[in-house]
Amino acid sequence: MPWFIKLKEDKRPTRREEIWIRCPKCKAHVFKEDWHNNLNVCPRCNHHGKLTAYERIGITLDSGTFKEINDTIYPCDPLSFVDGKGSYRDKVAETREKTGLNESVVTGTGRINDQPVVVAVMDFRFLGGSLGSGTGEKILLASNVAYDRRFPYIVFSASGGARMQEGILSLMQMAKTCAGIARLEERRIPYISVLTDPTTGGVSASYAMIGDVNVAEPGALIGFAGRRVIENTIKQRLPDNFQTAEYLLEHGFIDCIVSRRDMKDTLSKILSFYNR
Ligand SMILES: [Zn+2]
Repeated sequence: MPWFIKLKEDKRPTRREEIWIRCPKCKAHVFKEDWHNNLNVCPRCNHHGKLTAYERIGITLDSGTFKEINDTIYPCDPLSFVDGKGSYRDKVAETREKTGLNESVVTGTGRINDQPVVVAVMDFRFLGGSLGSGTGEKILLASNVAYDRRFPYIVFSASGGARMQEGILSLMQMAKTCAGIARLEERRIPYISVLTDPTTGGVSASYAMIGDVNVAEPGALIGFAGRRVIENTIKQRLPDNFQTAEYLLEHGFIDCIVSRRDMKDTLSKILSFYNR
């Protein structure tokens, strides 16, 4: 037997980041598998990590009931926008390729504990969940389906705000989506907004805050302008928990904070008031 044996290369993932996830809040290392089994929530500090749109749909709707609508809508580039990092068109193409999504929101119909709903679920991976004209269009069209079929409408927000590469068209989506949602009231159809981390800028200033019930996930960052901008404007230091779901609940901006593992049952309970 030779003194030195060349060990066979181990094919299993060995790099730390491949088997561990480091909780962004408490910095604990958690097995990736445990993290995913716990719905991307840190088992140590209850930090609610991000979910992709389809992961969110998977844990919220009854299995096999989701039917996607308008999945071919993708961003437009009305300004032929280019900045220091390149063109918006290329960025969109790259993001579509990387995420497999066409826009920053996935919409469709499905059931929650056998109660029909229309859902729109934002995905932060797609250009920071920004509100572009395609996003606004999908949220509006989904609200039309809710109106036509008299289904409650639930929007899960996760967004950095309006998509500035589309200029004023992105800002116009704020009014457009709210107008579609406001129409639901004619038929007394409930609209539930679920604010997840982060919900900021033009999204928090439009459809995310106008729910008949506004629900947030624990610790979610929710606000309009960033902390630094406000502190510099008012020349005052803001409290540490400023712009968290907990702070907003205390000040009456949202109705309740619900842990991810209780979200489906809570939504189901809210829907049951409408369906009985
Ligand atoms: Zn943690």
